[in-house]
Amino acid sequence: MTRKQIAAAALLGALVTGLQVLRAEEGMFPISMVPSLNLAARGLKIPAGEIFSPERDSLIYAILSVGATGSFVSPQGLFVTNHHVAFGAVQSASTTEKDYLTNGFLARSRGDEVPAKGMTARITESFQDVSPEVLRAVQPGQSLAERTRAIEKRIKEIVTETESRFPGKRAEVSEMFIGRTYVLFIYTYLKDIRLVYIPPRSIGEFGGETDNWMWPRHTGDFSFLRAYTGPDGKPADYSPRNIPFQPKRHLKVNPAGLQEGDFLFLLGYPGRTYRHFPAGYLAYEEEVRMPYVVEWYGRQIALMEKAGEGNPAVALKLAARIKRLANTMKNYQGKLQGMRKIDLVRKKAEEEKELQKYIDADAGLRKTYGDVLPALAQSYRELRRMSDRELILEHLRSGVQMFEFAMAAVEAAAERQKPDLERESEYMDRNWAQTRRRLLLARAGFFAPVDQEALRELLRRALRLGETGRLKAVDALFASDSSEKAVDAFVAECYRKTQMADEAFLDALLGKKPAEIAALPDPFLKLAADLYPAYRELAETRKARKGAQDGLFARLAEVREKFLGKNFLPDANSTLRLTFGHIRGYEPADGLYYKPFTTLAGVLEKTSGEDPFRSPAPLAHLWKARDFGRFEHPALKDIPVCMLYDTDTTGGNSGSPVLDARGELVGINFDRTFDATINDYAWSSSYSRSIAVDIRYVLWLAEKFSGAGFLFDEMGIRQ
Ligand code: GLU
Repeated sequence: MTRKQIAAAALLGALVTGLQVLRAEEGMFPISMVPSLNLAARGLKIPAGEIFSPERDSLIYAILSVGATGSFVSPQGLFVTNHHVAFGAVQSASTTEKDYLTNGFLARSRGDEVPAKGMTARITESFQDVSPEVLRAVQPGQSLAERTRAIEKRIKEIVTETESRFPGKRAEVSEMFIGRTYVLFIYTYLKDIRLVYIPPRSIGEFGGETDNWMWPRHTGDFSFLRAYTGPDGKPADYSPRNIPFQPKRHLKVNPAGLQEGDFLFLLGYPGRTYRHFPAGYLAYEEEVRMPYVVEWYGRQIALMEKAGEGNPAVALKLAARIKRLANTMKNYQGKLQGMRKIDLVRKKAEEEKELQKYIDADAGLRKTYGDVLPALAQSYRELRRMSDRELILEHLRSGVQMFEFAMAAVEAAAERQKPDLERESEYMDRNWAQTRRRLLLARAGFFAPVDQEALRELLRRALRLGETGRLKAVDALFASDSSEKAVDAFVAECYRKTQMADEAFLDALLGKKPAEIAALPDPFLKLAADLYPAYRELAETRKARKGAQDGLFARLAEVREKFLGKNFLPDANSTLRLTFGHIRGYEPADGLYYKPFTTLAGVLEKTSGEDPFRSPAPLAHLWKARDFGRFEHPALKDIPVCMLYDTDTTGGNSGSPVLDARGELVGINFDRTFDATINDYAWSSSYSRSIAVDIRYVLWLAEKFSGAGFLFDEMGIRQ
């Protein structure tokens, strides 16, 4: 090479790397792939082995699964997550007199920290492919439902056997590729979690549902909590004698934050994506399930909001439920809009047509894979045929609390008679305490008039079901009179007579034998017993459906890999993943550009004094005084509040640490833009953007607004 050629090659090299640096990439990478990602070429400034290496205590030990995600920021178990992740626990700890939800909470000493009821935390310790062991359970001659049951049982055996070998740890087998790959994860499992520092709702949820899933965003969606262990350092339930958990690693906090264009990565526990699902599934979601849920949740939310009007105690009671439903509803609205906008179902169907052509053109492929796509399409047609019935059964259980409790009692009684490994998983010994706790805690959100209205509406819908999906038990109840009046009278009677609202009654119930339950005269127990066969049938149908689909999905993945000539990443499944990208704006519509940072000035601009745009008065004073300290963004000359970047995230990534090129904490992920809700089906660097609260806003609020600067010492931040 001549000197000129070398210079040209170097320039080309620089351009190519330059392009690579700017190019975002789809991918929630399993942690095992970290060493092969060549993150240094993307901008990482520490060895990849610092993030994950089987040989050392790498950064992954600082990451927790708390339903969503959290990360340790001190050697004393202090961790950060989102305000919306801790929301339920803050609500449970609040009363109208001590309203931590509205006013925020700060524990000035360890002794002041309060239990975050219902929260647990897991840390990934190790993982191992167990696919052959799991798939060995599949035998010729099994029916489809038996196939699913055999796999489920094999998984339960592996899990219980592992937990007995590692007492105190939690084991989980996660399906990475449906019907194909299974990985055993072992987790440290912490059960004593406490609230440390929670901003007031007017900061933590600023913008509320109006701004949720939106940009520009100005929400201080963060919380600080602490994990505790028993005095011996082993995981334990809450006790005042417990001591702070000492993680193997915690994150260093970088108060300088990031600038536009900077490289970043996230570690977290993304919940569920459906990128490898066929057109039939997407069409079902778009045309049937999501519109149903949007309508149903909309109704529920309206009812609950009305119930809370002028009644702060009821409003507090219902706050977390409203929030959960509204969050899903708006997410689905975003997805529905996005699917139409990019014509997703048609595109997917076209891709499948091409794949079928490819299969049909080769006799060998036709023999092995020819039936896959038609059989999957058939399975989704069958799902649609029964969907009205299935949706009613599902929402009866998730939307009518008295019925949910009664059904859990009836089901638990039946299931807990069986040998442990034969039970549905929530009734196995290893899960039973947690299941009970969840049900008892859910009582906090019970409000009879709302519950009653939901039951009334679902029973009416059940009576209108078509011939194929009729619910015999409901028909029998109203055999002599199926008028709306009869339904209303029945429902009113149920709520008048039930004892289910009484905690002691419910507590005792969740331990009774089937005969004892049958002898109790409670109307909800009777209704649950009547409908129990329909739920059993539904569970069987689902097992058979999964049995059919597992094999089909496995073969679909195989043939798609041949067709497209590449390997795929597994869909998200609540296991630890890494995603990377850059601070970057985007064009959501013609003529519109979204900048990647918002500022404190923007918070004040949005502050109208009306919910959800109220701000605590000191914010404006601090801003006017330009009291930004070292947290000022050098170019914006203001406190950066939220930031936008092109990573690949989904629900479950809430609370994920945003890490800079050195692996230091610079933000806390909490949302996506409206356009990016469709990530779960299709990711694109043009519209997929995630949103975090900037660490500078978090630290600035802690120091200047809340007087929580004393936490900096613990986090090793220079004061
Ligand atoms: N805001 C989201 C949620 O609450 C979490 C993060 C995401 O889905 O991007 O579900």
